[in-house]
Amino acid sequence: MTCSESSLYLFNTLSRKKEKFSPIDKGKVRMYTCGPTVYDYAHIGNFRAFIFEDLLKRWLEYRGFKITHVMNITDIDDKTIKRSKEKKISLEKFTKYYLKGFFEDIKTLNIKPADFYPKATKHIPEMIILIKNLIKNGYAYKSEEKSVYYAIKKFEKYGKLSNLQINNLKMGSRIKLDEYEKDQAQDFVLWKTWIPEDGEVYWETELGKGRPGWHIECSAMAMKYLGETFDIHCGGVDNIFPHHENEIAQSEAVTGKPFVNYWLHNEHLLVEGRKMSKKSGNFYTLRDLLKQNIDPIAIRFLLLSTHYRAQFNFTFEALESAKGAIERLKNFVRRLQDADAPHKDVKVEELTNNIKTKFCNTLDDDLNVSGMLAVLFDFVREINNLLDMKKVSKESAKKIIETMKKFDTVLGVIGKVDVEVSLPKEALILIKQREEARKIKNWKRSDEIRDQLKNMGIIIEDTPQGIKWYSEKS
Ligand code: AMP
Ligand code: ZN
Repeated sequence: MTCSESSLYLFNTLSRKKEKFSPIDKGKVRMYTCGPTVYDYAHIGNFRAFIFEDLLKRWLEYRGFKITHVMNITDIDDKTIKRSKEKKISLEKFTKYYLKGFFEDIKTLNIKPADFYPKATKHIPEMIILIKNLIKNGYAYKSEEKSVYYAIKKFEKYGKLSNLQINNLKMGSRIKLDEYEKDQAQDFVLWKTWIPEDGEVYWETELGKGRPGWHIECSAMAMKYLGETFDIHCGGVDNIFPHHENEIAQSEAVTGKPFVNYWLHNEHLLVEGRKMSKKSGNFYTLRDLLKQNIDPIAIRFLLLSTHYRAQFNFTFEALESAKGAIERLKNFVRRLQDADAPHKDVKVEELTNNIKTKFCNTLDDDLNVSGMLAVLFDFVREINNLLDMKKVSKESAKKIIETMKKFDTVLGVIGKVDVEVSLPKEALILIKQREEARKIKNWKRSDEIRDQLKNMGIIIEDTPQGIKWYSEKS
């Protein structure tokens, strides 16, 4: 299943169009994704970015590419220093705590780990070399207070990623903050000379006592692990300016080569129409939701089910539908395990072959995940009908289960689906009580018992052949 009949197209922010994907080295993809700033637990908006990147990576793997994935860890910047000072903890201890939390969270969300997680604080020498080169080539200069700035007017293509016109800018106006908006485009800081507010956070270097600006870390670490030009760079749309624009300026001014071939950016997760962010306070961390007994895989499904270039609002209702969708997929696989029609059916064969092609065509179209889910659920419905009619043979069912498993290497939401199990006595009593409740049409009681069983890890399904039950523990 390598999608030999279609080609992968990805929307490149740089050209503002879908482009046919072709990596530098045949069969291999080098990919860099901007990682978390470890000053707090990541919120689920951040996880929208990481799950989109996970989907992209899994899709490339499905298509047979070998991926080298680097995700940086921002463990020094304005925010981490400020927060660690407020908490009166050393920067290292403070960021280590949240980094541990981040790794726990990505595991919970079934996000595949990157091959490298370089930390900014462990790459100061690489950043110094880059900055020195920029000074040597005339792209950077020292200010009166001995910080080093990038002179954006020197880099002719400055603004090419974010489509920014910089003609009206005042020469030499500078910004020292790590984060700023498009209308504040000006010379940005590469090396910040030490000030008392930085406390213990500084490095003694050839550029003086100080610390790096935020943007230089990604140029230094991306090129160290992936080379001067690599295939894919991702992040949320808020990273386009200034962060990624500055990464291009820093890297290309030194190497004279294109830094990245394909830039991919995910849109924001919103809450009531506004970007979910720490700054606005309208955010949920993964942990907030887990405390409410929400299944993390339903969060994963919700975050990946809208096309990555479309915004969408987070709601608890949508989370419920996500949960229902996963249940439908799991039940489908469970039902297939029991299929035993005596003969193969042409329709079943045809549907199974078609779904593989449709899966490829939709995801190859710039990861059109909503299109893919639509055809997948159509397929589930149609095969379910054929299962009702007892038209699915054991052999065909096995093939469909294999196909679903392969699809799930991309989705990561079905997991192991267990077959029927023997149940503890309390569960058997509950099932009996539920049957009795249903006989007298007491649906409320029947649903209550179903939930009770669910909490015990037991899933009940009413089929035309009677009740079936499964263990959810996999
Ligand atoms: P940060 O830890 O702030 O550097 O962000 C990590 C990643 O999350 C970046 O790629 C951001 O662009 C992305 N991001 C931040 N907020 C959101 C949001 N509300 N929706 C989607 N992605 C986001
Ligand atoms: Zn970055």
